[in-house]
Amino acid sequence: MNQYKEKIILIGAGLSGSMLAILLARRGFEVEVYERRPDRRKETVDAGRSINLAVSARGIHALTISGVVEKIREIATPMYGRMNHPLEGNPIGTMYSVNPDHWQNSVSRPLLNEILMTEAERVGAKLHFKQRCDAIDIANNEVTLSNLENPDSPQSYTLSAGRIIACDGANSAVRSAMKKSTDFQLEEKRFRVDYKELCIPAGPSGDIQMEKNWLHIWGRDGGNFMMIALPNMDNTFTCTLFMPYEGDKSMQQLDSEPKIADFFQQYFPDALPLMPSLIEDYFHNPTSALGIVMCYPWIVEDKMALVGDACHAVVPFYGQGVNASFEDCIELDRCVESYYPDWDRIFREYQQNRKENADAISMMAQENFEGMSKSGYPGALLRRGIELEMEKRFPEYKSQYELVSFSLVPYSEARKKGVINQDVLSQIVSAIPEVRAEGEEEALRKYETATLIKGVNWEQAKTIFQEVYSKSGFLV
Ligand SMILES: Cc1cc2nc3c(=O)[nH]c(=O)nc-3n(C[C@H](O)[C@H](O)[C@H](O)COP(=O)(O)OP(=O)(O)OC[C@H]3O[C@@H](n4cnc5c(N)ncnc54)[C@H](O)[C@@H]3O)c2cc1C
Repeated sequence: MNQYKEKIILIGAGLSGSMLAILLARRGFEVEVYERRPDRRKETVDAGRSINLAVSARGIHALTISGVVEKIREIATPMYGRMNHPLEGNPIGTMYSVNPDHWQNSVSRPLLNEILMTEAERVGAKLHFKQRCDAIDIANNEVTLSNLENPDSPQSYTLSAGRIIACDGANSAVRSAMKKSTDFQLEEKRFRVDYKELCIPAGPSGDIQMEKNWLHIWGRDGGNFMMIALPNMDNTFTCTLFMPYEGDKSMQQLDSEPKIADFFQQYFPDALPLMPSLIEDYFHNPTSALGIVMCYPWIVEDKMALVGDACHAVVPFYGQGVNASFEDCIELDRCVESYYPDWDRIFREYQQNRKENADAISMMAQENFEGMSKSGYPGALLRRGIELEMEKRFPEYKSQYELVSFSLVPYSEARKKGVINQDVLSQIVSAIPEVRAEGEEEALRKYETATLIKGVNWEQAKTIFQEVYSKSGFLV
């Protein structure tokens, strides 16, 4: 007999909503999902934010549990590392991991969403499109929706369910209702750069125009702005320009055709010839802000819960927003398995296990803007080179990137280790003979990073690593 016999309303059929719908419907719950957009499988819908996404271990884990990983692999383009494009000279590739089985997957957001929606329906969830959540009555467990089938005359109606779960993204309507409660803490911030999507199409004969299996980065102006490009299956690249919204070098300032062309010629000279529709794309595609949302609590008693961007929208510089949101779904489902029908405990334990980790990835993602935009600079290349070598020589040493992207270690622990790793690396760098003799800046000016890495005494590096870790309470 099905023990999970009750109705659950999900708001939003984006990536978290569809993932959670699969997990809950598979248990036998009556899952009703209300999504304000049209069904993208039947009507052309704008892809919304970012056309492709990097999916890594946590996302793959959730996709495996939800039974769609093989379908996702068919639409994924592996990215084995970062390809940094300096202003002059050839691009420099740095692997993501020393483990050849660890890579990032560039996946089309709309296709990923479609696969998840189809699977959710297959396992019994009911998806209702063009239904916008307008209000929530927390006291009575009610949700008021507008039927947008006829956009000129939306029809309003109210539904109720014992459980309402909000997967409605960074501007969550459900969170807005929770905000009215006096003990609700909410921080909504705009990050210091905006973004705009651009494109590198396939070449004239359909061929790819840059190395395919890499995430390309053009970090500029001491890390103040950057462009990145993720590969697509059809030999195109989706580029994203991240730049301050105002000031000297900003999106605002690039307001005419000659200014855009000059700017790209000055800062992205190798990419410019590959971007024939740059000007058109620049004016056509919106400039969007990057929002950060942190809030608490994520739940209302045993009635409501927030999942995914609705409770923790993060900036995309660790490529973890979806991965973290999928991890929420897996954790919520695990709590259901452990404690059903005690929803109070299910929601409390879900919140307790996820909040700290969501905060950690939010901070790491903000910090990693610099990590990415400066990743092609000599100091960063030196540290990354040493880290990879450390991972090769001492399997107990794991970089923060490895822990975040290629493991299921909680984000909070990855962040703690990342901070300690900075200390380990700084001490190793300081002990390189050329750095000791001339200082890091001068050594980096005079020598190739490969030469400096050759100067590392690995026995000494091991001792530094063990000492720093044991002082910090981490066992090696
Ligand atoms: C530029 C950019 C690049 C990114 N790159 C990556 C990456 O490489 N890797 C990664 O892991 N993450 C990435 N992310 C983050 C990722 O996009 C989000 O974390 C993810 O989309 C969150 O999924 P979600 O389902 O919680 O929210 P959303 O994807 O926003 O889905 C919310 C859904 O709810 C619907 N909805 C909203 N309001 C209502 C309402 N009132 N009523 C009914 N339905 C509603 C929306 O239409 C939507 O379908 C990126 C984000 C940005 C902005």
